[in-house]
Amino acid sequence: MPKQSGAFVAIGLCAIALPGIAGAGPEKPVGQWGGERIRCLAYLGVSDKTEEQVARVRQMGFNYVLANPGLCDSPVETLMPLVRAADKAGLRIIWVASMANQFSNPALREALAGDTRRFVGADGRVSPGSACPTDPVFWWAVWFNRALPLARLAAQGHKSSAGLLLDPEDYSGGFDETRYCHDDLCFYSFCESIGRTDAAAAVPAETRHAWLVDNGLWDRYCAFQDEQVAKMLPTSAAR
Ligand SMILES: [Zn+2]
Repeated sequence: MPKQSGAFVAIGLCAIALPGIAGAGPEKPVGQWGGERIRCLAYLGVSDKTEEQVARVRQMGFNYVLANPGLCDSPVETLMPLVRAADKAGLRIIWVASMANQFSNPALREALAGDTRRFVGADGRVSPGSACPTDPVFWWAVWFNRALPLARLAAQGHKSSAGLLLDPEDYSGGFDETRYCHDDLCFYSFCESIGRTDAAAAVPAETRHAWLVDNGLWDRYCAFQDEQVAKMLPTSAAR
């Protein structure tokens, strides 16, 4: 998703209802959340007119907004004008936490520096902007340090803070998806788990995907990586 300048703009987004743009009108929501009918605007940012903009959004009939006001660049404190205005107006915010392009942000780049593994695509290319999704350093920097403070807003009494939208798309590398990584450690770990350490060293990055498919192992590879990510979730829940 493109970074926002501060003022709210309406753009297309697939996952959340955009009734005003699609022509369906705010009276025809396309989804529900917790029994509440969703009429969601994307995006609303923070500016010197935040309170006025929030009021206008409510007048337009929207009850949810996606907010990505330079999320990776902005400390939570800078988002509080939006949070307070939304609390007051009864507007609910879904925070967009970008899981990609971490390396374009100086603070995250510093957190990720040195020992973070980059995502490697099915064609063997190394992503310039995304970390390997099984790398705990990535999860600490993006998820624990960025997303959890936003998630905690609700626990701190800010009813406007409704949830997180984790956006895993890689815009800088041209990959279709960044869910399943083909870097050395991901591939080696999988090979070891199935007793094929011979393949770990013999199959280069650019042919790993084809090798997995040709050997009928792609589904098992995906399941294995999902397990690696899931192992980090209890740590997240505990925090
Ligand atoms: Zn990987």
